[in-house]
Order: sequence, then structure tokens, then C-alpha cells
Amino acid sequence: MLGLMQEWPLVCHKIIDHAARQHGNREIVSRTVEGPIARTNYRNIRQRSLQVAQRLERDGFKRADRIATLAWNGARHLEAWYGIMGMGGIYHTLNPRLFPEQIVWIMNHAEDQALFVDLTFMPLVEKIAGMVKSLRKIIVLTDAAHMPATALPNVVAYEDWIAEADGDFAWVDVAEAEACGMCYTSGTTGDPKGVLYSHRSNVIHAMMAAMPDAMGISSRDVILPVVPMFHANAWGLGQSGPMIGAKLVMPGGKMDGASIYELLDTEKVTFSAAVPTVWLMLLQYLEQNDLKLPHLNKVVIGGSACPRAITEKFERVYGVEVIHAWGMTEMSPLGSLATMKPEYAGLTGDALLDIKQTQGFAPFGVEMKVTDDENRDLPWDGKKFGRLKVRGPAVAKGYYGGAGKEQFDAEGWFDTGDVAHINENGYMQITDRAKDVIKSGGEWISTIDLENMAVGHPDVAEAAVIGVAHPKWDERPLLVVVAKPGREPTRESILDYMKPRCAKWWLPDDVAFVKEIPHTATGKIQKMALREQFKDYELPAA
Ligand code: AMP
Repeated sequence: MLGLMQEWPLVCHKIIDHAARQHGNREIVSRTVEGPIARTNYRNIRQRSLQVAQRLERDGFKRADRIATLAWNGARHLEAWYGIMGMGGIYHTLNPRLFPEQIVWIMNHAEDQALFVDLTFMPLVEKIAGMVKSLRKIIVLTDAAHMPATALPNVVAYEDWIAEADGDFAWVDVAEAEACGMCYTSGTTGDPKGVLYSHRSNVIHAMMAAMPDAMGISSRDVILPVVPMFHANAWGLGQSGPMIGAKLVMPGGKMDGASIYELLDTEKVTFSAAVPTVWLMLLQYLEQNDLKLPHLNKVVIGGSACPRAITEKFERVYGVEVIHAWGMTEMSPLGSLATMKPEYAGLTGDALLDIKQTQGFAPFGVEMKVTDDENRDLPWDGKKFGRLKVRGPAVAKGYYGGAGKEQFDAEGWFDTGDVAHINENGYMQITDRAKDVIKSGGEWISTIDLENMAVGHPDVAEAAVIGVAHPKWDERPLLVVVAKPGREPTRESILDYMKPRCAKWWLPDDVAFVKEIPHTATGKIQKMALREQFKDYELPAA
């Protein structure tokens, strides 16, 4: 017998309809590329999204067309998202930090038909547009007064373009399983792979993200999504923000300490989300200028492992709660968050920080397990680490075009490529990427654990650990360090600092000092490049 409840498709335009109806006056504040701070609200965002949808349709774009965006976080970008989805199209976020050739490859693979672009990226678009065969229209997210001169055909100013539509448009009646968004993973090996979100997965993910034990956000929050919309959907905040009716503060292209602080302060931001690098810049700026954070309650930190020192400083010096989170583009992206279960009530000091260092537990909607090399489940004992696998309604079941089939199994589990353990309370801790883990004498050494340890040293700004060939142990860890400005830590002082903090056989065999550690377009350490750089490195004899 079927239930007698309504079929109410989980489609994304319902999110912006709800925001406009229930929270219509709530502000969306953007630092524009043109310079000034712009203010709008959910009612206007919805109206202008309708104009975008209507205009796209009038220009001949159709359901399931991939429409790319190359833009910072801002109100116009959000309007473009909802407009594209509302006409049945698929927004395809491009990461401007990728090499131009990669962006061209991705756009051709996705067969993008149109592109919404911020002024910042017009020089890039000038170079690449001719190489994207499918591209028919370029909409520059600005007004006529700020339009740059361009020789490219079919380029329009966004404000002029939408002004030609009145917004009298009915959202296209899509099914919830239809695709609405797309994002390519910045794979360190092989070609990038396309993740294709559905209306349903985006709506479910937004609800999941907002739950109290996940991000725990509400209409009373003022949210600053520093994490870009082109990096895994701004961790869902472009959907969960309007869904709960929070005020949004969009930082545009400026993510340095001073710019972020200015927005936190003037807009009285209560909640923010970003990768560790952004927070490091902010904390440095606060220290240098003797500033406090009276409005900010909570920050979510993820994308790569959050150094303990960041959590400690936020919580103890600035009174800001830190939630360490883990996720992937393939997971929409949230997978787990380290909020505190009652089992940990009353924890203080280092014991509390230990739990906050984990990547936390999976909310409803994410199933998780760790397996050994024979695909046997490992116990949740907080020790045995293996391959981390996940499944759920907002987890990919394949890549666009059928790439990467080996990552999905018959029972629906997706192999994340991360190595982790899970403790008795469900708290997962990433110990490595499967391809980065160091195998020394048949045992695994976690490079992330060692890196976290090393950055606790007062003179270390950044650290990366890689495996270097060793005649007896196969591989041994080499610690690569960037010193803090003006500091000159020695090999001995760093190893002495780490000695009491790790197993004896985990201690790196040597320390190499470098000016800079290479990063990927999403801010992760490029271990492959480092391994290449140090492939002939000779470790000192034991
Ligand atoms: P992306 O799809 O670019 O978001 O990258 C996903 C990958 O980033 C994951 O598979 C992890 O390897 C890494 N990652 C994300 N969050 C964390 C975290 N909190 N700690 C450690 N690694 C993380």
C-alpha cells in the first residue's frame, strides 16, 4: 500500500521561492568586482533569477544545457544559478584557479553552451573562448558602464541582458532526478571528472547541511561563505542559506585577512566557512592589528585537514566555535562534521581538541565505512585505518561520461580515495589520501598526522610529509617545511618537538626547508609535485 502523502518534488527553484516568500527582505550583501558593496534581498534575487531563466530560454537555451559560471561569490552569481536551474538547465561552476588548458578541456567535455563570467576573468575568457566549440554566448556579470572592450562575439552585459526580460516566467517543471548542477573534481592524476548534481540531491544536501549537528544555521545567522561557489557548491551554502533564510555576505574575490575581517565586522557575521589557508591569513591579521571577533559564533573549516593551532586559537583566544568538516565534490560536498555528541559533554582542554581534530561524524544521509585491502569492514575502534567508503542521496553514483567506474561498487559504495579510521562514537579521522600514505616496512604512516604535528612548532608556517625511497624500509617520511617569516627553525628543533608526540618509527628521517609548498587549485598540497621534486633525495644514514 502506498502512503497517502503528496508528491512534492525536491527541486531547487522551490528553495528560492521559499526564501522570497518567508524571508523576502533578508539581505544579500556582496563585495562586487567593480568595487562597492551591493545590497539586495531574497525577493529581488528570485525576481532576477526569473529574468535570467526567461532570457536564457529566449536566447534558445534548453533544458539540460550546461551553462558555465566563472565567478566569485556574489548575488549575481547566485541569481545565475537559480535562473539556470529554473529553466531546467545545469549550472556548471568553473574553478578559475585551474590552468587555462584545464578549463578549456573541462568546458569542451561538458559541452558548455553559455558562460556567466565576472569581470576579473575576462582576460582569461578572451584567451580560451575560441577553443570551446560549444560556447554560444558570454554574459559578463556587470552593467553597461563597466563592460570591457572585447573582440569576442556574442558578449553581453548581464544587467542589460536581464533588463530585456520582465520575469513573467514559470519555472520549468523538471523532475527531481534531473540534473541541475555540475562541478569537475580537480584530480591530481588523470583528467578531471564531472560530478552531476540533481535537484533532489541538492535539496536533500541543503537540509542535511543546515541541521543542528551539521552546520547548525538558521534565519538568525549572518553567513559569510568564503569557500567559493566554484569549490563544491560553497559547501552547499548557496542552497542551505536561502532555504533557512539567513542573511548572506558574499566576499567576491577578496579573501585576504583585512578584507574578510572588514566584512565580519561591518556586517556582524555570525557564521562562516572556509579552508584552513583563509583562516590562517585572518588569524595573522587579527594578531598583527590586535583585533577581536565579537559577532562571530562559529566557523566551519574543511577542504584539507584543519591544523590544531587554528582550532585552539579560534576557540581559546577569540571565543569562536570551530567545526572541522570533511567532504568531497562527489558528496555535494558535506560528509562529516565534528560537532559534539553528548558522549563528549564536559570534555575540556587537549581532550576536547583531540575530538575536534577528527573530521567528525556523518549526518543522516551519509553512510560511512572503512575497509581493508580485501574489502572487509574494519572495526570502529579509532585505530584501524583503511579505505573510506560512503553512500547516500547526495553522493555521486558515477561520473559524467562514465569515467572512474572503479570507484563505485555494486552495493552503491563510493571509494573516496581517503584513508581513515572511525572511533566507537562514529567520529572519523582522515589519516591520508590512499596514494599519499607512506608504507614503511609494511606498516602505514599517516602523513597528515605528521603534518599537523609539525605545524604545532612555533616557527613552522606550513609542512608536508612525503615518502622517499629507502633501501631497507621501502619508504621513509621526509618532512618538507616552510618557516614562518623571519624565523629559522633547525632540523633538530623540529624533530625534538615531534619526538614525544608520535611513535618512534613515524618520526621523519629528515627535514627539508623550502620557500614554498605547491598547492592545487582547491588549496590542497600537491604531493605529486613534491615527490617529483624530492625523488632523488638522499635520506641521512640512520
Ligand atoms: P574536493 O573534492 O576538492 O573538495 O576534495 C576532497 C578531498 O579533500 C577529500 O577526499 C579529502 O582528501 C580532502 N579533504 C577535505 N576535507 C578534509 C579535511 N577536513 N581533512 C582532511 N582532508 C580533507
